[in-house]
Amino acid sequence: MQSCDSSPKNPRKNRKLPIDPEFMNKPKVETHNGHDVRGDVTPPDKLGVHGTQVAVDHDVCNGDAICVSVCPVSVFEMIDTPGNPVSEQKSDPINEPECIFCRACEVNCPTQAIQIAEP
Ligand code: SF4
Repeated sequence: MQSCDSSPKNPRKNRKLPIDPEFMNKPKVETHNGHDVRGDVTPPDKLGVHGTQVAVDHDVCNGDAICVSVCPVSVFEMIDTPGNPVSEQKSDPINEPECIFCRACEVNCPTQAIQIAEP
């Protein structure tokens, strides 16, 4: 029988995220719009993970902008990523410090590109 962790603090424990699970172990390669970028960054094909507490894997984001719609404090803005093979727009956590950790973006992202980590 499968166990189910319903803890509101960590509703996705045991769920494998398509976001690069090792991104925090990778070196910071740049600062962009006030947040850190980690991972392999070789535009336009590889764009890395943007943000830390609000982390968006730009190699997984399909640019559908659901996170922009559901975020109550306007953390995200869409940016153009011409030539990227997944999508030519990405969600960027430009107001990461404003996050209230409601996890609406994480739960609603269809490609599981977002990971929220409370400090
Ligand atoms: S967790 Fe909530 S407040 Fe934070 S970025 Fe996602 S939708 Fe916005």
